[in-house]
Amino acid sequence: MTTRPPIPDPFDPLLDIPPLGASAYAPLADRLQRLFDTRSDILFVQAEALLALEAAAASLARPGLVAVNVVTSPYGGYFGAWLRRGGASVTDVVAEPGQPAEAAAVAAAIAGLENVDLVAIVHAEAANGALNPLDEVAALARAAGALLVVDAVASAGGHPLDIDAVGIDLCVLGPQKALGGPTGLSMVAVSRRAFAAMAAASRPAPSLLSLLDIKEAWLDRGRGALPGTPPPLEFRALEAALDRLEAEGLAARIARHQKAARASRAGLRALGITPWIVDDARASALVTAAPVPEGITADDLIAAAARFGVALGRGFGTIEDRLVRFDHTGIRAAFPPVLGNVVAYGAALQALGRDADIGAAAAAVTAVWQED
Ligand SMILES: *Cc1c(COP(=O)(O)O)cnc(C)c1O
Repeated sequence: MTTRPPIPDPFDPLLDIPPLGASAYAPLADRLQRLFDTRSDILFVQAEALLALEAAAASLARPGLVAVNVVTSPYGGYFGAWLRRGGASVTDVVAEPGQPAEAAAVAAAIAGLENVDLVAIVHAEAANGALNPLDEVAALARAAGALLVVDAVASAGGHPLDIDAVGIDLCVLGPQKALGGPTGLSMVAVSRRAFAAMAAASRPAPSLLSLLDIKEAWLDRGRGALPGTPPPLEFRALEAALDRLEAEGLAARIARHQKAARASRAGLRALGITPWIVDDARASALVTAAPVPEGITADDLIAAAARFGVALGRGFGTIEDRLVRFDHTGIRAAFPPVLGNVVAYGAALQALGRDADIGAAAAAVTAVWQED
């Protein structure tokens, strides 16, 4: 007689989930590869996307590597620091605080160097609502013969992202933003060229930060069991997120985020407010940043909006007190949150003694939502 493991009583869906079989991971990678229509290999990093970014830098950095690193939020700053730690010589191209990068500034940085091995950039920012000029920067990287590393954690699912057509050698993806999934794991799409560059880099000793270690332990062994103990809750949640995404369709998911951004920006303008990022074409579809008017603090504005049950996000760094963020990412890319953000921001302005036509703002949001 075989003894069965005891069935926990009461059953807890968070603790007593069945483990995933070794064959569960390759199909998830295949689905991501199909969604993003890429020939790059998809690797899983069993941690949140910041660690995948750190792994990308740790895997590519080497003494002598010349990198141009675009900084439009704390993420770009971290990436440059991780490259430097690996011995790379890094030129940061730092944008105006909270604003997208200028392609001309990237071009000037490249022109000022004898050769450039790597260009790194965030696609769209959730931290401040900036959309970087990815196509232009990709063309500059290509012309320089440099590898292109893109942080698409926030943009994937919110903006069109053609990894192969743009020529992204290493693209970091996270499920937890517009893809609507869990935070505890992340993905990287790695081209052959990027793997070749890693092979020439100063590879970290056996390390959880080495993408080459993951490649060898998983990809090169026929994509069976993942190394280590993969978190089953996170992978099951990724599977559920992909089910949901495939049911909606990636194009529809992107369109929903774009609509949320258009509606938020129309609402702000109807309040008489110029969005923090003035040009629609340079604004991210994940969040919309709104200015904190002179004479008001971000704390006051956030507290006044909280009285309506609406959580406005803070800015980061030097602009912490100059903007608030309307989050319309994932399930929040929907009419109720978008309307709530705009109206609560307007009502908060009123509560703080400013003029704001909430009715006009609500009408503007609604009009955008009724477009096809
Ligand atoms: C959210 C985000 C990340 C990942 O940060 P987490 O701490 O994993 O949420 C990385 N880059 C960008 C641009 C992001 O918006």
